[in-house]
Amino acid sequence: MTDTKPDLKGRLALVTGASRGIGYFLAKELAACGAHVVAVARTVGGLEELDDEIKAAGGEATLVPLDLTDMAGIDRIGGAIHERWGKLDILVANAGILGVIAPLGHVEAKVFEKVMNINVTGTWRLIRTVDPLLRASDAGRAIIMSSGAAHSARAFWGPYAASKAAAEALARSWADETKNMPLRVNSVNPGATRTAMRAQAMPGEDPETLPHPSEVAAKILSLASPELMETGLIFDVKKNRFTRYQMPE
Ligand code: NDP
Repeated sequence: MTDTKPDLKGRLALVTGASRGIGYFLAKELAACGAHVVAVARTVGGLEELDDEIKAAGGEATLVPLDLTDMAGIDRIGGAIHERWGKLDILVANAGILGVIAPLGHVEAKVFEKVMNINVTGTWRLIRTVDPLLRASDAGRAIIMSSGAAHSARAFWGPYAASKAAAEALARSWADETKNMPLRVNSVNPGATRTAMRAQAMPGEDPETLPHPSEVAAKILSLASPELMETGLIFDVKKNRFTRYQMPE
């Protein structure tokens, strides 16, 4: 993919999980390219820091403190964007949780349900509420954050892996539904990144060996470009190219 920054002047981007990690830096990149960023997360301090950074660089943001387990709250996002802007150009469904690293037989029901609730049901509710708004854009772009865990066999990562495989399936279905429209829908596998989630998953790992989320965000940025042609694919950040999910023979 090209490293040329897309021109996003006049475009509206909704980014979930924008209070820290990959979502924070992707929101910053989008704003630096000219997009007005609607930033969603629970942590007001993280959102305010993002807002300060975006405004200091001459950009624009609107903050939406929201817990993405609040499904009615997700539904309201679409209505609010419709009233104020009438369309959405870029969706980054990035917020996610790991849950727990444990054998499937030891996972508590409430933990499993929370992972599915945020990573899958929340993603679908978000898709549902913004679908008409993205269709109203002349270059709608949707980026659904996945993980290598969606495809690999990893002991103890069951709930998270299942949730990411499901999120990718949503992205593929949505891409197929909209393939004859300007809307482009892709999943992203960011690869191991120096964030709080990765530290929770791999506490023994030296974070300095991992790419900073700002580096990862810079590579994902091109998926928001009005020039993007691809849809229904998975963008692998480490390989810096699109891949297609292959069913085993
Ligand atoms: P972080 O844990 O650093 O950030 C997660 C973000 O999601 C935070 O902004 C957090 O905001 C938000 N979030 C979590 N729960 C909720 C909730 N209930 N309501 C609203 N927002 C919520 O994670 P990363 O940046 O590492 O991960 C971003 C995405 O990338 C995730 O989907 C993850 O699965 C994926 N990924 C990450 C990898 C990595 O190595 N880091 C590897 C592969 C995939 P707040 O707590 O303020 O609500």
